[in-house]
Amino acid sequence: MTIFAEIIAGRAPASRVYEDDDVLAFMDIRPFTPGHLLVIPKVPASSLAELDPAIGGRLFQVGQLLAAALRESEVGCDGVNFFLADGVTAGQEVFHVHLHVIPRKAGDGFGL
Ligand code: 5GP
Repeated sequence: MTIFAEIIAGRAPASRVYEDDDVLAFMDIRPFTPGHLLVIPKVPASSLAELDPAIGGRLFQVGQLLAAALRESEVGCDGVNFFLADGVTAGQEVFHVHLHVIPRKAGDGFGL
């Protein structure tokens, strides 16, 4: 069981920003930039190969909504990166698929 499964179950804390039957989004505990969010499927999938493509579509759809919301929020970003690490070689650390939604501002010093 991963920490994200614990968050879904409510056994670990997280700052939740969006939730529906399929997807949960919450603040990253170590944000790359202020407002950095993670969007995860509620049904655990450790890798893209295990992820139901329909749920993958929902991750992107929710990420798209959150990106628009971030642009309107006090975060005040003028750009957004989506990022997904699949596998150790790609930098994946938590083996429950997650889409990073990373607000960007000119001069924020973050390089992806
Ligand atoms: P990865 O490297 O697997 O793509 O990213 C994992 C992300 O999960 C990292 O950005 C890390 O900060 C975040 N993370 C790890 N543990 C926790 C946690 O317990 N709570 C939250 N909110 N984020 C976490």
